[in-house]
Amino acid sequence: MHSPDVTAVFNLPDEAATQRLGQALAPALRPGLVIFLEGDLGAGKTTLVRALIRALGHAGPVKSPTYSLVEVYVISSLYLYHFDFYRFESPEEFLDAGFDEYFNDASVCLVEWPERAQGCVPSPDLRLRLHHAGFGRLLEAVADTPEGAQCLGMLTSAMGGGNSSAVPAPR
Ligand code: ADP
Ligand code: MG
Repeated sequence: MHSPDVTAVFNLPDEAATQRLGQALAPALRPGLVIFLEGDLGAGKTTLVRALIRALGHAGPVKSPTYSLVEVYVISSLYLYHFDFYRFESPEEFLDAGFDEYFNDASVCLVEWPERAQGCVPSPDLRLRLHHAGFGRLLEAVADTPEGAQCLGMLTSAMGGGNSSAVPAPR
C-alpha cells in the first residue's frame, strides 16, 4: 500500500520545548491512533508523553512504564495506553502479555521502544523519533497513515502558531 510519508522536524532546545510539543499533541489524538516513540535512553520519550497526559487533564502522577510495561489512563472516555518495551528480551513477549488486545479502534497507544516488539506490535500511524542534538533534542515525525498525517498536521500547526522555541526546523 502506498504510504503518505508525511514528515516534519521540530527543534527542541530544552526540556520545556519537549513538554510543549507533548501538550500540542494532546488535542490531536483520536481513538485508534498508534504512535511510536523512538530514540535512545534519555532522549525524552517519557518527558513528551508525561506532558501530553497532563495536558489531557490527568492530575495524578505519570509513571514511566519501564517496569510495569504499560500504564493505563482513562481520561474523559479516552482510553490511553502508554507502553515501554525496553525490558523485552524477545518481541513474542508482546503476544504473551496479551498486549495485542490493547490495540483497537477505541484506544490510543503510545509506545516507547517499539523496536523491541518488532513483528508483533501493530504498525504505527505516526512515528516520533527523538535525537540528541547538542544539549537539546531534534524530533523527527513520520506519518505512515492518513490518520497519522492528520494528527501530524494538527501538531505542526499548533507548534508553528506562536511557539518560537520549538518550531519546525528546515530540512
Ligand atoms: P526516555 O523516556 O527517552 O528514556 P526521559 O524522558 O525519561 O527519556 O528523559 C529525558 C531526559 O532528557 C530528562 O532528564 C529531561 O529533562 C531531558 N530532556 C527532555 N527533553 C529535552 C530537550 N529537548 N533538551 C534537553 N533535555 C531534554
Ligand atoms: Mg522512557
